[in-house]
Amino acid sequence: MPVKIHVQLFFERTCQKCRQLVRVMVHDYGELTPEEADRAFGLHDFTVYPLRCPECGTEEFPMHIVGVDALKNAEIFRTRIGTADLPVVGGDTPYAVVRSLEEMAEYERGLAKLADLFKEKETEFWKSFTSWAAEDWPNRLKELSKIELSLGLSAVGKPAPPEMSAAAHRQHALKLRDDEICVFWRAANRHLIEKEFLFDPPDFWNTEAWAREYGRERVLWVLLNFPLPEKLERWRTEKLAPLIKKKSGALWERVRQLGQALDKQRRRAEELSRTVFDLRQEIACLQEKLSAEREERHKLLAEVGKLRQAETPAERDRAKLDRYKALVKELQEETKRLYSLLPETVSKESVTEEPQTEAVTELPDPRETLSGKIVAAFGFAREPWRDSDAQILWHHGDKWDAEAERLAKEADVLVVLTRFCSHEAMWAAKEFAADTGKPVGFARGGGAESVLLAAQNAFRTAIPPCRTGPVRPA
Ligand SMILES: [Zn+2]
Repeated sequence: MPVKIHVQLFFERTCQKCRQLVRVMVHDYGELTPEEADRAFGLHDFTVYPLRCPECGTEEFPMHIVGVDALKNAEIFRTRIGTADLPVVGGDTPYAVVRSLEEMAEYERGLAKLADLFKEKETEFWKSFTSWAAEDWPNRLKELSKIELSLGLSAVGKPAPPEMSAAAHRQHALKLRDDEICVFWRAANRHLIEKEFLFDPPDFWNTEAWAREYGRERVLWVLLNFPLPEKLERWRTEKLAPLIKKKSGALWERVRQLGQALDKQRRRAEELSRTVFDLRQEIACLQEKLSAEREERHKLLAEVGKLRQAETPAERDRAKLDRYKALVKELQEETKRLYSLLPETVSKESVTEEPQTEAVTELPDPRETLSGKIVAAFGFAREPWRDSDAQILWHHGDKWDAEAERLAKEADVLVVLTRFCSHEAMWAAKEFAADTGKPVGFARGGGAESVLLAAQNAFRTAIPPCRTGPVRPA
């Protein structure tokens, strides 16, 4: 019972981006003997397609085809795709050895003819092979192994005992008659011809290894004389170079050089294809990054667009106002803190200077512009003041209390008496003004005239709550 292996075939690549091994099963041959497996591989064509990395999603063509024995979980062979050993047919793929569909069709037509052609020319082939061997019989025998010698001797009915040495076998073979040589030679070479030259397609002929195993002279003769369909002739030339010795004549030397050049070019092509692989993966990574960044940019732009659409001018102003209010609140807190640090006695008098100038020269009579308006003045507790045009509601300005709030609400304009009003009340008045959009003015004096002037000035320079930047008096 022959040993069986369970062969599975995989496409494999290593992801350039995340170094992940990507492996996809292409075929499960089931359990086969090694010989059956060998034959099965030769019969199959597979479509090569890009493999997707499960880690990062990049897609790239596989680099190797790997045969695995599933029973032992052991690798049986590993071949690089798109090389002389495993060419790829057609398509836009990053491989070094790619055959066009036409080339492949021609190659396959040649292969299909190979067996028939050999059968047709077999007799003739063996005849000339034998006569070549007979010409230098002792030397030809030197290239035969003990097994080959013994197979030949058995075929002519002169088997040698197996314990006999190869040299003794050879001695026997030397004494063969001409008619025996013919049978002997064919039997001794059956394996070389049937299991090597006929079994493998010419592009897989491993003439270099065969030369080592069967002898260079013999393999060279077969290579030069093996019946090949015209479509496959080019392989004869390609497989010739490794068999040619240096200094074997100018013509041979030329063949050897051409073969070496061809080999060099093939290696170069493989190197380039490796570079192409790397570059393609790099490009894929960069493209992925780029598209992610593009997406992010689109998202941001869409968000900005949405914000722009959602924000009406009123909402924008409101937001700005909220920010201003927050600032005012902060300043107020800070002022409160600083104020609490001052000695009690100073607190009432110590009031900050208001940067805004009180007086605007050559103003018209305040009463004209303030006609019908209510002014809330912070810094002095007095009875309400009134004349025919304007009214002043007074508040002590020590702190911002419910009374201050009420008066501020009632008033059309707020005036802070900077030398008398507390920091707290001043900031609160400012906040109130920012909140409501009511103008706020600042007076250094404490009398009704000062208040009215400051109120009028406030109206003239009132900053609309939502405007930014310097505002000039009208
Ligand atoms: Zn990956």
